[in-house]
Amino acid sequence: MKHRIESDGEGNAKSKGKDDARRKEAKPGDKVCVITPKEEIEGLLLESFEPGITLVKLPSGYNIGLRNEDILEIKVLEGREKREEKIEKLSRRKGLANVAMIATGGTISSRLDPATGGVKWLTSPQELIRLFPEIAESVNIVSIESPFRLASENMSPDEWKVLAEKTALLLNKQDVDGVIITHGTDFLHYSSAALSFMLRNLNKPVVFTYAQRSIDRGSSDAKLNLLCSARVACSNIAEVVLVGHATLSDDYCYAIFGTKARKMHSSRRDAFQSINAQPLARVWPDKLEILQAYRKKDVSKEVKADTSFCKKIALVKFYPGQKPDILEYYFAEGYRGVVIEGSGLGHVASSEVKHSWLPAIRKLVRDGVVVCMTTQTIYGRVDPYVYSPGRELLKAGVLYLNDMLPETAFVKLGWVLGHKQWRTPEKAREMMLHNFAHEFSDRLVP
Ligand code: ASP
Repeated sequence: MKHRIESDGEGNAKSKGKDDARRKEAKPGDKVCVITPKEEIEGLLLESFEPGITLVKLPSGYNIGLRNEDILEIKVLEGREKREEKIEKLSRRKGLANVAMIATGGTISSRLDPATGGVKWLTSPQELIRLFPEIAESVNIVSIESPFRLASENMSPDEWKVLAEKTALLLNKQDVDGVIITHGTDFLHYSSAALSFMLRNLNKPVVFTYAQRSIDRGSSDAKLNLLCSARVACSNIAEVVLVGHATLSDDYCYAIFGTKARKMHSSRRDAFQSINAQPLARVWPDKLEILQAYRKKDVSKEVKADTSFCKKIALVKFYPGQKPDILEYYFAEGYRGVVIEGSGLGHVASSEVKHSWLPAIRKLVRDGVVVCMTTQTIYGRVDPYVYSPGRELLKAGVLYLNDMLPETAFVKLGWVLGHKQWRTPEKAREMMLHNFAHEFSDRLVP
């Protein structure tokens, strides 16, 4: 882009009067055509924070900065108010599915506020639609709630409960076809697992989505993720899924079961992978390719939010040389369940070494604490029968959780132990091994 610049900051104050004259009528939010001696650029006028620079959001989503001295004229093609009026009228168009949204925070729920320079949350359908008008072409976004605004690292089981309750209320409304929940990426898989267990008798789609890059950035993944989420939210898939980029490009997304999703990269757009299982579907803004069996939509069902949760549970990652003191600590604190992330097949320090974990594990199990084993490799299954340490641990009462993800196991254990009727060790073990929401796969997928 010829007129694109990084930053300037010098000598711009002088040109202010001239700048103002050139942009007389145009206000941030207006659709404009910026005329320079070399080209005409159409886009949305943004508030500029650099003196002497005009910022324009291009239809591609990229923002460009133009030196004011290079601008001959800024024509207003459509004023912001007019556009908003139109957007207002778009809601509830006949023949389109009605989708409710819950915005919880994270990158996808924030954007730069051109007026203040600060970060602002999206809380109204109008605002979301203003940023992504395409979403209102495929579905009616009938409501956006924001029960809390938290980055996912600041959430807790309390927020999972709120989300489950709000979602159930929305799903039980006759005029809602599906729910989209926007969420921070880092601990999204905990929330998606929580709702997979807490929403019983699920009748309609529940779609979690996210952005790795803020929606103001040209490279944001938010648009495709939202459009594909809308496609799933109006489908007949009555499952809790996560929808996000399948590749590095803006070509299609995957819908992944909420219990099988894991963030596997700190920054890539395709950060979420379906672990040990095929994704449920490949998703484009206008079509779905189903890859897995799923529960079908059934509007005669009433969803129940079963949100009982025992917080006295822990997730422990084993490392070589680690003493079992951490287990003693949880025991002393009255914890009722522990998920261990052990070796590939599910071992921890065995009876061959002084710091063996076996005595502590036996003590916990004897007291009724449910001790579960998952794998640090994420991919694959734990298997206690291959080596003797596994058999020792099995004998000590450790519950091997097959291919269940450690985080999913943690959430499930809290949910299972939250139920009085499942609190005996036998019942808790039985429930932990019951496949509620695709947390176990029959066949592992490479
Ligand atoms: N740490 C943030 C969160 O998980 C990152 C993001 O929004 O994706 O909420």
